[in-house]
Amino acid sequence: MKIYNTLTKKKEEMITIEPGKVRMYVCGPTVYNLIHIGNARPMIVFDTVRRYMEYRGLEVNFVSNFTDVDDKIIKAAIEEGVEATVISERYIEECKKDMKALNVMPATHHPQATLEIGSMLEMIHTLIEKGHAYAAKDGTVYFRRKSFAEYGKLSHKNLEELQGGNRSLQVSGEEQKEDPFDFVLWKPKKDGEPYWESEWCEGRPGWHIECSVMSKRYLGDEIDIHAGGEDLVFPHHENEIAQSEAANGKQFARYWMHNAFLNIDNKKMGKSLGNFFTVRDISEKYDLQILRFFMLQAHYRSPLNFSAELMDAAKNGLDRILQAASSLQYFMQNTKKEQMDDQEDLLWKSADAFRIKFEEAMEDDFNTADAISAIFELVKWSNTNTDASASKALLQKVYDLLKTLTDVCGLIIEKEEEILDSQIEALIEERQNARKEKNFKRADEVRDELLSKGILLEDTREGVKWKKA
Ligand code: AMP
Ligand code: ZN
Repeated sequence: MKIYNTLTKKKEEMITIEPGKVRMYVCGPTVYNLIHIGNARPMIVFDTVRRYMEYRGLEVNFVSNFTDVDDKIIKAAIEEGVEATVISERYIEECKKDMKALNVMPATHHPQATLEIGSMLEMIHTLIEKGHAYAAKDGTVYFRRKSFAEYGKLSHKNLEELQGGNRSLQVSGEEQKEDPFDFVLWKPKKDGEPYWESEWCEGRPGWHIECSVMSKRYLGDEIDIHAGGEDLVFPHHENEIAQSEAANGKQFARYWMHNAFLNIDNKKMGKSLGNFFTVRDISEKYDLQILRFFMLQAHYRSPLNFSAELMDAAKNGLDRILQAASSLQYFMQNTKKEQMDDQEDLLWKSADAFRIKFEEAMEDDFNTADAISAIFELVKWSNTNTDASASKALLQKVYDLLKTLTDVCGLIIEKEEEILDSQIEALIEERQNARKEKNFKRADEVRDELLSKGILLEDTREGVKWKKA
C-alpha cells in the first residue's frame, strides 16, 4: 500500500510500527458551528482510507479529536450568553449526526481537548524541563522553536527567510517571545473565558498542544499516520511535530497525509470567506451519499470545485451503481436457476479483473477516482452479462462484489428494508426455539440480525419485548 507522505514528498510503501495494526490520528473540527462540506472532505477521505485498510485486514486504531476550547467557541458562547461547553457539546452532537449521515464511521476514540488538560500540563512541563519551552512573565508558555533543529521539515519552509519578511510577527503584545516563530503552549485567561489552574497561570492551552497530547495518550509516542486538510501542514502539524518529538524523543508520525481543499470558484470553502454550505444545507437538497460519492470521484490530493452541476453529475453516476444493484436483487428474486454452470464459472472469473483494478487503485495512494472507475466497469459488465436467466449463485456473487467495493467507499447500495412486525415476531420465536435447543449461536445471530435492522430485544419476566432503536 503506497501513501504520499508530505514529510518526504514521495509515495512510500506503508510499513506500520506494529505488523497488522495501524495507529492513525486525524485532526478534527473546532466545534462552534455546524460543519461545512469543506470540513467533511477530510472526514470522508480518511474514513475511506480507514475502510480500505480494514478491508485489507489491518486493525485500525483511529483517533479524531474535537477542538472544544478555542476563541471562536468562546465568542459564540458570549454572544449567546451561555457557557462555552454548551456551544461545544451542542456542535459535537451535531457533528456526530452529520458524520453518521455521511456514513463516516465513529472513531475508535473521539477525545476532546477540555477533557485532556492534565496530560497537556504534563507535556508542557516536560518541554520546559528539557529546555524546549519557557514561561514568560505573564504566565504564557512558549515553545522555543530554535531548540528544535528540524523545525520546518514537514512544510519544507525556509523559516529564516520567512522570518526576515515577517518582522511584524513580533508585534501585538508578543514582544515577550524570544523568537517570532515561538508559539503558544499555554496562555493566561481573559475575563469570562474558561480556564484551568496551572503552575504558570490560570489559563488555557494553545491549539497545537492538544493533538500532540491526545495522539500520545490514545496511540502512543510513535504513530503510523497523521492526517488532516492541507491548511494544517503549517503551522499546526509542523508545531505538533516539534512538540511531540522534543517531548518524547521519538519520531512522531511516519506518514503525513493531507487532503486538498474543497473550493468554490477556485477559492477555499471556509467560514472566513463566508463561501460555504453546511452539510445540513446540502442534506436538504441531496441525499448525502451523493456528496460522499462526489468527493471520492476526485483524488484526495487534487483540489475539488463544488458546484450544483457537478453534484447533479455525481447523482447520475451514483444512480447507475444503485440501479445495477437493484437489478441484481430483482433478478435474484426472479431467477429459476440456482447453481452456476461452467459458462458462468468462466464469466465470473472475468469479473475478478474489476476487484483487482479497484485494489490497485486504492493501493496507489488511495486513488478513489480510479477505484470508482473500476466500480463503473463492474456495473457495465453486470448490466451486459446478467439478467433473470442467470443463476442465483452468480447474481449473488456479482452483488456481493459490488457491495464489497462500494462498502470500502462508504457507499450504501442495499435498500433499507422496512421490517414488518410479523417478521420481527417470527424471528423472536425462532430465537426462543434456538435457545430452548441450546443453539445459542443461532439465537445470537437472530438477535444481531434484528439489531442490524434497528430492533432492540429485551428479555423480561413476561417474555421478550422489542422496540425500534
Ligand atoms: P477546522 O474546523 O477549520 O479546524 O477544520 C477541520 C478540518 O477540515 C481540517 O482538517 C481542515 O484542514 C479541513 N478543512 C477546512 N476547510 C476545508 C476545505 N475547504 N477543504 C478541505 N478541507 C478543509
Ligand atoms: Zn491537530
